[in-house]
Amino acid sequence: MKRFLVFLLLLTTLLVSCAPRQAATGPWWQDAVFYEIFVRSFNDTDGDGIGDFNGITEKLDYLQSLGVTAIWLMPINPSPSYHGYDVTDYYAVNPQYGTMDDFKRLLAEAHKRDMRIIIDLVLNHTSSKHPWFQSADADPASPFRDWYRWGDDYVGSYWHGGTHGYYYGFFWREMPDLNYENPEVTDKMREMSLYWLNDVGVDGFRIDAAKHLVEEGLKFESTPANHEWLRGYYAFIKENAENDPYLIGEIYGAGSLVSKIYEDQLDHIFNFEIASGAVNSANGGANSGIRSAITFAVKDNPEGNFATFLTNHDQERVMSTLRGDINKAKMASFLLLVSPGTPFLYYGEEIGMTGKKPDEYIRTPMQWDASPNAGFTSGQPWIAVNGDYAEVNVVAQDGDPESLLNHYRALTTLRRQHPALRAGQSVLVETGSSKVFAMLRHDGGEILLIVANLGNAPISDYKLSLSSDVLKNGTIRLETLFGGADAAPLMVANGAFSDYQPLPELPAYQMLVLKLR
Ligand code: CA
Repeated sequence: MKRFLVFLLLLTTLLVSCAPRQAATGPWWQDAVFYEIFVRSFNDTDGDGIGDFNGITEKLDYLQSLGVTAIWLMPINPSPSYHGYDVTDYYAVNPQYGTMDDFKRLLAEAHKRDMRIIIDLVLNHTSSKHPWFQSADADPASPFRDWYRWGDDYVGSYWHGGTHGYYYGFFWREMPDLNYENPEVTDKMREMSLYWLNDVGVDGFRIDAAKHLVEEGLKFESTPANHEWLRGYYAFIKENAENDPYLIGEIYGAGSLVSKIYEDQLDHIFNFEIASGAVNSANGGANSGIRSAITFAVKDNPEGNFATFLTNHDQERVMSTLRGDINKAKMASFLLLVSPGTPFLYYGEEIGMTGKKPDEYIRTPMQWDASPNAGFTSGQPWIAVNGDYAEVNVVAQDGDPESLLNHYRALTTLRRQHPALRAGQSVLVETGSSKVFAMLRHDGGEILLIVANLGNAPISDYKLSLSSDVLKNGTIRLETLFGGADAAPLMVANGAFSDYQPLPELPAYQMLVLKLR
């Protein structure tokens, strides 16, 4: 019996130590504000027109002033393309971006500021110029032949003619997919991942095309084998990394329910529901988009274990979608930064940079000031700087308290000061108006009431109501944390309130964060 009890205790200990996430104790990424950087376009320090690692190091103070605590760098490996998603050497950095020493200095300077850096990890495919593929393509007897997927026939648009037979490349003929049914490939990529985590010292990975790693027959994404592979990879990394790495996957289009499915395979996936919900509600002035996104989040993933964003490097920039309307841009970022999940900002979003497809135009140089080429480079930029840079730049907005940049700063500060915004539960509040959005965030320690008039006109015809077991009966005073206006006290009876108006009239685009005392 005693032995059996010891066995049970061991088993329990084992199960607890294997638990993928401990939301209650708070991993570092739960408190993070991430910033996505396209290195080529951020800041050039040597005048070759291409952004570099030293350029990012130079701007760490700026990022800190923005409230950023972690950075995601788009691919930094050598690559023949401008974007870098086709890698030719997984153990080196792109010489156009600097040296490995430059990169390590960036890491050290970031860590000195308690900032972390994750890098894009392109596991699904290599470049067609990668020596592995060059060897596999040239010689069917190559030891690397089985590192890729070969067929005798041209079956569908994902297969491309090679020197001997056809090879599989889901995204592009220059990006042949690796064959993860071959354990050698899995071993190599695990070893390479540990090199970046343990030898170089990065803090995690954004795994590109994470649902496409393992195919099954004609199923090209989210296969059972793909889940199984990620599960094994995740366990391996968590066990062998010397730091506490964050693994986030690109599962294009996924929402809260899908993030639940991946919880033993990735720390986070990006929540596309909150992204489109926030942008659509800000753009259309109606609460339905953000309300339905939060409804799913509350139902499927109340802990907020996912990453949020407005738009990323694959989408039209949010300021273009909002047709340059700064009030709507402020509203979109407000909805993002008061919502559950770990927020990711896309470089330049905080100053309202614009850009529409093709992709190069949503990845143009960061606009620092009004000097030639926006202060991005002293040379010829790799791609033209957006023509609006004389007005839209960091220096112009830095000293203006009403600027979009300072709005972002105020919101990230609020998030840093109030754990309920980072890890708290989210409860939607009825508003009696499609133009008004309201939500409670609470974490057991504090209760915050979020209210926003999404519309471009003042509104007095609205009534907030909620029944919730976190509300205490009585008259509750509210402290305004964001939004500048004093709110009327809240009457709670039987754990509920109704017909509540914090302000008799909510001005156009009013945003409020109120703390219940
Ligand atoms: Ca450069």
